[in-house]
Amino acid sequence: MSLDEKLFEIKRKWIPVYFILLIGLIILAIHFILMAYFTNNQDYASFSLLTLVAAGYIGYNLSKFLNTIISKYTTVKLLTCKKCGYSNEDKNVDKEDYVMKEDGICPKCGGKMIIEGIYRIEEKTKPSLLELFGLKKKIRNRFK
Ligand SMILES: [Zn+2]
Repeated sequence: MSLDEKLFEIKRKWIPVYFILLIGLIILAIHFILMAYFTNNQDYASFSLLTLVAAGYIGYNLSKFLNTIISKYTTVKLLTCKKCGYSNEDKNVDKEDYVMKEDGICPKCGGKMIIEGIYRIEEKTKPSLLELFGLKKKIRNRFK
């Protein structure tokens, strides 16, 4: 798991709390506005303003978080055919794999494929709402 993903996991736990807080503040603000309207009491007006500011702050943070882009890393190995030069990236990296190891048969010419390199590729993703609420498993094991 990358640092991005770890931070994301920590923040994600707070999302439902923020949502409940936001809804609570909005209800409170509506309540104060109605009270201010019906009782003509200035105190209710300032309370409603305060709760609206707080709701706005939480809403802003929430929307910022919902737009977070996180980096995912996938380990791949670059396989190259010694005979014809055909190459492709394979995501099925084993613990036993190493550079220059023979690995499989070339689909083009039937020659031996060797591992030219093992590296990580970065993918930028934006988590969906379902993932944020933990309703969908987001981070699967990418290191088979
Ligand atoms: Zn080949």
